[in-house]
Amino acid sequence: MTNKSNFRLGVLAGDGIGPEITEATVRVLEAAAGIASAPVTLTPAVVGWKAYEKSKSTLPDETLNVLNASDGWILGPTFAGEYPKDDPIRGHPSGFLRRHFKLFGNVRPVEAWSQFNPLIPDLKVTIIRENTEGFYPDRNLAWGYGEFKPTEDVALSLRVITGVACDRFARFALEHAKANGNSVLHIAHKRTAMPQTEGLFISAFEKLQPEFPDISVELLRIDTFSSSFPREPHRYKLVATTNLFGDILSDQASGLAGGVGMAASLNAGTDKAMAQAVHGTAPDIAGQGKANPSALILSAAMLMTWWFQKTGEASYRKAATLMEEGVRRAVETGNTTADLGGKAGTAEFADAVIKQMQK
Ligand code: ATP
Repeated sequence: MTNKSNFRLGVLAGDGIGPEITEATVRVLEAAAGIASAPVTLTPAVVGWKAYEKSKSTLPDETLNVLNASDGWILGPTFAGEYPKDDPIRGHPSGFLRRHFKLFGNVRPVEAWSQFNPLIPDLKVTIIRENTEGFYPDRNLAWGYGEFKPTEDVALSLRVITGVACDRFARFALEHAKANGNSVLHIAHKRTAMPQTEGLFISAFEKLQPEFPDISVELLRIDTFSSSFPREPHRYKLVATTNLFGDILSDQASGLAGGVGMAASLNAGTDKAMAQAVHGTAPDIAGQGKANPSALILSAAMLMTWWFQKTGEASYRKAATLMEEGVRRAVETGNTTADLGGKAGTAEFADAVIKQMQK
């Protein structure tokens, strides 16, 4: 049940650099919540290798119980396909969580940071991606895996698109546009090649559009968009698309903005939301205390904004703004992690963010 005066959050540290950046994120979030008087209750739970070693599952039931009792959670990066294959469904924790908790809207804001030498210096675009079905074989069957090989030279991959998922996603994307003052929502699609599945997706937006008279829904073929976006990036502010297209487009946008190092994301459903950095587990620097926690901190800030939008409690919006501004100002001081050109470790950078928030 929604309790406006408290935000119950699970904390899942994950693999690789996950524990380091999650610890930093929790410290920043607690500091922001304290300054903004935005009550949060944090409950840690295990996921990934740690969980597998303990209970032979990368997502044990005890963790799902914590998440069931939470309003949202922070998920550190987890491996994708590297776990033992005895549980192929839960073996991809991030995909499983998105589907299991119906976190159907994946919001990926992309912004250029000068420290990364971006190809497009003032790029600012948000990709909203359907998150629960489409060309993702671990997500589109109730039992089993949606990619299979009946004979040695025949391989099949199933793509599932349903009206229910399209409808709820279209509402989510249009409401996001409204909440953020976007007057245009671009839909990137490939209806020319896949008229049924893409047609279902597009018609969900067309049906709903009259409820959002201030937002113009503009259709754009994914191939046209891909060639136009790098040349005219400022034409696009908000783009909604299906799952796999959204994965590719948001990575392309991050690349043009200088990399995934600062890229935040939120996976949201009707009742719950999950903060998750766009980058992976970075095994090459794991355990060294030098990873940049910014992407996860900014994702946690999105979680606070989501809770504000859900409850109307302005203290959560204040906490989110503190976190966003704290990261921005800490980066501007130059005392950053190595990927941003500085010498600070993960914990030291988190201290710098907290110091900026306290000013
Ligand atoms: P995975 O298999 O989990 O996707 P990966 O190494 O293939 O891991 P990323 O984790 O996204 O993919 O890392 C890509 C590169 O970016 C690596 O060199 C990594 O060290 C670097 N990197 C990723 N995240 C961070 C971070 N938060 N701080 C610093 N460097 C990072």
